[in-house]
Amino acid sequence: MHVRGLASNIMKTALIYHPIYLKHDTGPHHPERASRLQAILRKLQKTDLINKLQLTEPGKASIDDIALVHHRSYIAKVKDAVKNGLLNLDPDTVISQDSFEAALFAAGGVINAIDLVFKGGADNAFCMVRPPGHHARPSQAMGFCIFNNIAIAARYLQKQHGIERVVVIDWDVHHGNGTEEAFYDDESVLYISLHQYPHYPGTGAREDNGKDKGKGFNLNLPMPAGSGDNEYIKVFKELVVPKVNSFKPQFILISAGFDGHRDDPLSSITLTEKGYYEMTAILKESAKLYSENRIVSVLEGGYNLFSLADSVHAHLEALTT
Ligand SMILES: [Zn+2]
Repeated sequence: MHVRGLASNIMKTALIYHPIYLKHDTGPHHPERASRLQAILRKLQKTDLINKLQLTEPGKASIDDIALVHHRSYIAKVKDAVKNGLLNLDPDTVISQDSFEAALFAAGGVINAIDLVFKGGADNAFCMVRPPGHHARPSQAMGFCIFNNIAIAARYLQKQHGIERVVVIDWDVHHGNGTEEAFYDDESVLYISLHQYPHYPGTGAREDNGKDKGKGFNLNLPMPAGSGDNEYIKVFKELVVPKVNSFKPQFILISAGFDGHRDDPLSSITLTEKGYYEMTAILKESAKLYSENRIVSVLEGGYNLFSLADSVHAHLEALTT
């Protein structure tokens, strides 16, 4: 009897991963490189956490899925760029022969996670994908991102599963300008971003809170350099949770970048694994209240291999608990 009681509090968490993500080759010196995912996998194997996860290999997104957010002319441009051997889509966004395919599988990973959680095959899921997505604009690659995985996920939830209210929480250290742009005039997707400010890409000011019907459904929470676990948890409790709970989301998506870690080379935010664990646990409370525990989290940045692996580990521990 007591065993069953205990088990009811344990979440079934899926880990979405496909080996093609390693074939998006940005070269050995680019911060957004294949070894990021290998470092996470090694860590999960070493601590045995991998055995608690439901490992799922996804299929790829269709062009129609990508077109939920991106212009078809842009999708064709990426396909051609890869075929023609171009090396960059923008100064930061390096591509290789398999990048288009990998990007389709990255978006496909998030879509598969959503379907799995909807079918009850898992309570929540973490998508260990690359290339990342939150800087990708409807018709432009940007900041290591080709297709906006999380924005596609939000639109897919609405189209395929009839979900009316989706929240996207983005704690990557950079502002997710692409995601903000996709939903800026839309009241059905609440976008909340905590990011170092001022910092790349320059957007994410507090006063940018949406337009037209979307006014009030875009919440930018700029964090000054030096902010860490305490500052983030405070903002979470005082601003993020009340906003999420008043919106009553039917599904929670997380743009989970781990480049706000104190050891990360790309920022001056000082989060630790503990902070990522805590933020995850807090969002799980809202998910329990409003979204039947449904959370799909999607990897964005994180460039120190050790702190990335440790932070993802902490995030997954919180998701599985
Ligand atoms: Zn980032």
